Amino acid sequence: MPVVVAPDHVHHDVATGVWCGVTEATDELPVRAEIIATACAAAGAPMIEASNHGPEVLLRVHDERFLGVLETAHQRWVADGHLESPGIPYVAPYFFPPVAGRHGGNRLRGAATIRAEIGFYAMDTLTCIGAGTWIGAKAATDAAATAADLVAGGQRVAYAVCRPPGHHAGRAFFGGSCYLNNAAVAAAQLRHAGAGRVAIVDIDAHHGNGTQAIFWNDPSVFYGSVHVDPAAGWFPHTVGHADEVDDTATNCNMPVHPVADDGDWLNACTTLLTTVGLFEPEALVVSLGVDAAVDDPNSPLLVTDRGFAAIGRMIAGLDRPTVFVHEGGYVLATLAAHTLAVLQGFES
Ligand SMILES: [Zn+2]
Repeated sequence: MPVVVAPDHVHHDVATGVWCGVTEATDELPVRAEIIATACAAAGAPMIEASNHGPEVLLRVHDERFLGVLETAHQRWVADGHLESPGIPYVAPYFFPPVAGRHGGNRLRGAATIRAEIGFYAMDTLTCIGAGTWIGAKAATDAAATAADLVAGGQRVAYAVCRPPGHHAGRAFFGGSCYLNNAAVAAAQLRHAGAGRVAIVDIDAHHGNGTQAIFWNDPSVFYGSVHVDPAAGWFPHTVGHADEVDDTATNCNMPVHPVADDGDWLNACTTLLTTVGLFEPEALVVSLGVDAAVDDPNSPLLVTDRGFAAIGRMIAGLDRPTVFVHEGGYVLATLAAHTLAVLQGFES
């Protein structure tokens, strides 16, 4: 299948985030995309460079002011003197105005300093903004949009090697290592190209709260996810429960228990895909995260490459034009194998 890469992703290279007050090294690294792309090329996939898309692709799924703040945040951080004090090279959220000012203060007025304004949009303290974050995140959306263009143009399937990932980013918020929602961009691009109904199938280990939020009550876009149960304490904590159903009945969450193995995980996937089939989508977007892998410390799930190959085959069984968009998966030694298991399962 055609594989879309966006070389400018390398500009997003933020080394750390803050988790529970502790500064930790990030594992969402540029080398992730390089490893996957190299493996796809070695497997014989046609490699295509993402084409630059205009702002309308982002504005279909994101708030204009949010985009402006994200694009300029690092410049403002520098202008506010934060490279000297506190001496941090990334925009790091610390103050959250929606909590402080529920009856006053709003993001349209903004804040005098970016260190406060960014808190209108930040979901967590893990996800910092570096000098090249906007360029890298925009490149990932270009990859997703280009893959959607290929499928809209008649390809059965295309895969976008997106990083940073996107499914935790909402219309006007970012977090969970995500800034712009690549899968949402792909779905909106398919809709724009004429697909009346698009389904997003999210198999990342974590619930895609941003994607769910963007398409909540949208009758033309179905969002379904299999993920580790937030009720067991897992990110994104407050979202992703099975009882979250929108008014248009186009949302389906299938949380699984923390030690779900191939059998448990695939059972949940089977139920989800049955529901997706009933929606009768004209096209599919798959949020392809492989952090449900047994060796990935970012989730407790126990999925093996046999499970990943099986979900690839099951998605192919829906027999719809399909755009795969990469999300999570962080073990550098096995990231490519897990990813290829899904893609080769689809093509088998
Ligand atoms: Zn994940």
